[in-house]
Amino acid sequence: MIFLKTEDEIELLRQSNLLVGRALGEIAKVVKPGVTTRELDKVADEFIRDHGATPTFKGFPNPNGAPFPASICTSVNDEVVHGIPGDIVLKEGDIVSVDCGTYLNGYCGDSAYTFCVGEVSEDVRELLKVTKEALYIGIRNAVHGKRIGDIGYAIQRHCEAHAYGVVREFVGHGIGKEMHEDPQVPNYGSRGTGHLMKRGLCVAIEPMITRGTRQIMMDADGWTVRTRDGLCAAHFEHTVAVGVDKADILSSFEFIEEVLGDKAI
Ligand code: MG
Ligand code: MG
Repeated sequence: MIFLKTEDEIELLRQSNLLVGRALGEIAKVVKPGVTTRELDKVADEFIRDHGATPTFKGFPNPNGAPFPASICTSVNDEVVHGIPGDIVLKEGDIVSVDCGTYLNGYCGDSAYTFCVGEVSEDVRELLKVTKEALYIGIRNAVHGKRIGDIGYAIQRHCEAHAYGVVREFVGHGIGKEMHEDPQVPNYGSRGTGHLMKRGLCVAIEPMITRGTRQIMMDADGWTVRTRDGLCAAHFEHTVAVGVDKADILSSFEFIEEVLGDKAI
């Protein structure tokens, strides 16, 4: 079932997504060598609740195990997505993908950003740059009259041109009153295939891109997804509303990039 949103609903989605953007901005202030991923979780959890919202990830059910125990996902280096915040101490040269979700006034926010911890290698920086570019290239295709496959095709083409892996098992999604609505939004695909997008469709677009093989595996915790070859992965996500001429990006990296300044990717 696909729900097209009214302009009022899109504004509510924007508020929730801007709160995610601001929470990620708070995280940008504290990502540095010596910080644990649990500390990042605490910053986000408090910020979200202080602003009258609920972190949607906390308690998110897992059909194969325990519900998600934290308010953000923190995926370090070879972890692709759904890493659980804990005792991992970030060190110089690491990357950490932070995925954050909020529920505010009945609507969901969902956005993710991969942060550098201090200075990272040129190879890793390039992976982040290309993944972020792929996100915006995908977003350019989220317009009325195009199809979902156009988004995936554009993302896949850009990333594979750099010989990176495009994760297949996890995908973007519709978003609204529920964090995960129809349709699914894969980061791979063929042009002109899949669901026909209409104005008012709201989707989270979220390329998960690897430096090497696209093969992944799941940790025993039932959540953490990591690359099979142990190479790094990046994850950038925006929630957008499909528009007639262009997509309206409802989440924001502005708060992050204000903090990072000229160190932003
Ligand atoms: Mg997300
Ligand atoms: Mg998402």
